Amino acid sequence: MKAVILEGPNMFTTKEIPMPVIKADELLVKMEKAAICGTDIRILEGKKTKDVRYPSVIGHEICGVISEVGSEVKGFAVGERVAIANVIPCGSCSSCLNGRENACLNRQAIGYQFDGGFEEYLAIPGIAIQAGNVVKMPDHVSSTAGALIEPLACCIRGMVNAGTGFNDTVLVVGAGPIGLMHLQLSKIAGASKVIISEPNQMRRDKAKTLGADVIVDPTSENLNEIVMRETDGLGVDVIIVAIGVPSILNSTINLAKKGGTVCLFAGFAGDGMSQMSANTIHYNELNICGSTAYKRSDYLAAAEMVKTGKIDLDEIATHVYKLDDFKAAYEKFLDGSGLKIMIEA
Ligand SMILES: [Zn+2]
Ligand SMILES: [Zn+2]
Repeated sequence: MKAVILEGPNMFTTKEIPMPVIKADELLVKMEKAAICGTDIRILEGKKTKDVRYPSVIGHEICGVISEVGSEVKGFAVGERVAIANVIPCGSCSSCLNGRENACLNRQAIGYQFDGGFEEYLAIPGIAIQAGNVVKMPDHVSSTAGALIEPLACCIRGMVNAGTGFNDTVLVVGAGPIGLMHLQLSKIAGASKVIISEPNQMRRDKAKTLGADVIVDPTSENLNEIVMRETDGLGVDVIIVAIGVPSILNSTINLAKKGGTVCLFAGFAGDGMSQMSANTIHYNELNICGSTAYKRSDYLAAAEMVKTGKIDLDEIATHVYKLDDFKAAYEKFLDGSGLKIMIEA
C-alpha cells in the first residue's frame, strides 16, 4: 500500500510499504480522506517535534471505511464508514480528572504515537476503539466532512472556552479553514453579528458565502474603526484569534468590549511572545483564554452537527490530492491559495 513516510524534518516521500497487520483489539481502516492541518506542516518542517516519531505516518483528520475487524472488537463491521477522533487521553492524570482531557498530561494520539491518516490503510489502536474514538458516519456525510470533524471539534472547544452566546457580537481574526468554522459556529451559538478580518480576497469571499455579517480587509481598511462603528463604539463581546501572529494581539484586544473575551485559538509562530497592554486587560476586565485540542464530547458534538447538516465543511475544502502527489498538496498548502487541502488514497 501507499503511505507518506516522514523520515525527519523536511524528509517525506510517498512509498510502498506493507499493509498494517492488526491485533485482535484493533480495526483496519481504509482511508477515504485525510486533511492537511497547519500542525502537520509544522511537523513536516521539523518545527513541531513533541511526540513525533521518525519514521512515521502523520495525519490526524481522518475519515475512512472499515476493512478488517479484530477478533476481539465488538460493535463494528467491515464496510462501515467511520470518522476518527485522534486524541486518546489517559483518563487518570490531573487534567483528565479535572475535566480537561483535551489538555491530558499523558495524551497519545493517532498521527503522533500511532500512525496517522496519510496512508491507504491505518490500524486503529484498541485503546482508541474502547475509548469511543471511532464514530460511524452515514453515507450522506462526505468523506471530506467526515475528516473535518476533528478540526471542527477543536473549534467547538474554543467557542465553549470563549463562552459565545445568544446576541453576542463576535470578531473572528483570520478566515482560514479554522476561522470559517468559527464563523459558522458563532452563528449557530446565536451571535447577532460576526465580523471577519482577513487580508486574502478568496477567503473573504468564502466568509461571505458562509454568512459573515461584516467582512474587513485589514490591509486596506481600518479594522478598529469598523468594529467600533458596528458595535456602537463598545467593541465586540468575543474575539477569536484564528491566525498565529503574536504581533497583532495588542491591537486586537483593544477591539473587545469591557468584560469581553479574547480566545487565543491559533497556535502562535516562533516563541509566541507578544506585548500586550496589561492595563487594557485590567481596566476593561478582559478575559483572555486559550484553547487546545478537544474533548471527546466536543468531537461527538461536531460529528452530530455534520451528520444533521448544521454546518458546511465541504465548502471549506478546496483541493484534493492523491497520496502520490503529497508534495504538491504540501506546496498548495504553503502558497495559501486554497483552504483545506484533502488527501485521498
Ligand atoms: Zn489538526
Ligand atoms: Zn490524562
